[in-house]
Amino acid sequence: MRIREDQVYEIAGIGFGPSNLSLAIAVREHPSNIPERPVTAVFFERQPEFGWHRNMLLPDVTMQVSFLKDLVTFRNPVSRFGFVSYLHQAGRLPRFVNNQDFFPTRAEFHDYLEWAQACFADQVCYGSEVVAIGRPSGDGPAGCLRLEVRDAAGAVRVVHARNVVISTGLVPRMPEGVKRDDRVWHSSEFLERFNGADRHELKNVAVVGGGQSAAEMTRFLYDELPHAQIHSIVPSYGYSLADDTPFANRVFDPEAVDHYYFATPQTRDDFWRCHRNTNYSVVDSDVIRDLYRRWYGEGVRNTSRLRFLNLTRLTGVKRAGSETRVVLHSLLDDEIQELSVDAVACGTGYDAMDPVHLLGDLDRHCLRDDSGQLRVSRDYRVLTTPELSCGIYLQGGTEHSHGLSSSLLSNIALRSGEITDSIIHGLPDPGR
Ligand SMILES: Cc1cc2nc3c(=O)[nH]c(=O)nc-3n(C[C@H](O)[C@H](O)[C@H](O)COP(=O)(O)OP(=O)(O)OC[C@H]3O[C@@H](n4cnc5c(N)ncnc54)[C@H](O)[C@@H]3O)c2cc1C
Repeated sequence: MRIREDQVYEIAGIGFGPSNLSLAIAVREHPSNIPERPVTAVFFERQPEFGWHRNMLLPDVTMQVSFLKDLVTFRNPVSRFGFVSYLHQAGRLPRFVNNQDFFPTRAEFHDYLEWAQACFADQVCYGSEVVAIGRPSGDGPAGCLRLEVRDAAGAVRVVHARNVVISTGLVPRMPEGVKRDDRVWHSSEFLERFNGADRHELKNVAVVGGGQSAAEMTRFLYDELPHAQIHSIVPSYGYSLADDTPFANRVFDPEAVDHYYFATPQTRDDFWRCHRNTNYSVVDSDVIRDLYRRWYGEGVRNTSRLRFLNLTRLTGVKRAGSETRVVLHSLLDDEIQELSVDAVACGTGYDAMDPVHLLGDLDRHCLRDDSGQLRVSRDYRVLTTPELSCGIYLQGGTEHSHGLSSSLLSNIALRSGEITDSIIHGLPDPGR
């Protein structure tokens, strides 16, 4: 799309994953957004095209939320951007219903997201990374923020907006001291790396981690590399189950955001202590059972291609020429051992979204709490000093203020609606 550098947009969204896609829909559907007074919104996405965790779209992996927690339904069940509308348009609605499954494959959900984003081609710039946000330069427009946007060729454009909505997603985390390279992968780059490698050379592969991504990669590698030895390095004694039972699932309900937001620090800690196992370092039961079945089958056949190193931590990776050795510390016998591998895939999770590097000098206008976290109002707006009147909103990175669903899909339809309301009510046009 063509960006107008002379225009001040009302909303600039940074990142165009599910959160800001949901926001784009909420803005389009807002009753105050009428042709005579359109709300101008533009979105920047650094990927060359839409993609939702493409590198973990492994065969048959399924969603961890109900299809009804799509981009819109909890906010506007009659929106034309719901998952049911997508199924209807794709001609699969009866077949989907017959399947009696709330959890579609991630590949199907990806297709749904692509279908929805295609309606926003006039508002999204792909291959465009926002590298800085700041105040306008001396001769720039007043009452807005200045975004520097770098395209794939390295050219930087300047865009102005009254409000920014930062939704840049989770940040891949590697084990301490371990760097990524062509043999040492993070799950966020898994399929690209795997497809780029010569399968016949992958005879010994290690997977690090005890969560969903690590378990999914272990199962995938075992199935895809029938000649290879797969070493699964699990920090716990066995995989822990993701609790998605109905009462526990209530922590992702819209009202849980209020319960968390207005709770005391002690109660917030309790939320995390009691319900971490709904999402963090846990695995869905079908994946655990699949893996156990494969491991058990090995025993029956008297083979041992799939090996679990329990209570074991990766403490380093040594590279010497073409050789890669993982250094492992077993908590069972306190022994250190080295294992030669052809590749190691780290399913070691993600850190929360952190907007600090984008905010640069603006950060000093953003208020922080006693523990140094950004103070964020209930409508996801960063609290700032009075000198900064523009809106900086967060979709993600609010685990400390808004709770467990901050980085998940569960609440995006409502959150996008709340942010849209907040922005539109704050616009200078009194006629809105
Ligand atoms: C493999 C995997 C599976 C998951 N499955 C589920 C699930 O089933 N259910 C669930 O609730 N959650 C799931 N999650 C959690 C995940 O956070 C959400 O699904 C979802 O991706 C959140 O959407 P988002 O738009 O906030 O972030 P993202 O999807 O991460 O999108 C952020 C986007 O911002 C772009 N970006 C980053 N920096 C910039 C910049 N400076 N300028 C421009 N663009 C930028 C990125 O390229 C990216 O496209 C999963 C996570 C992973 C890793």
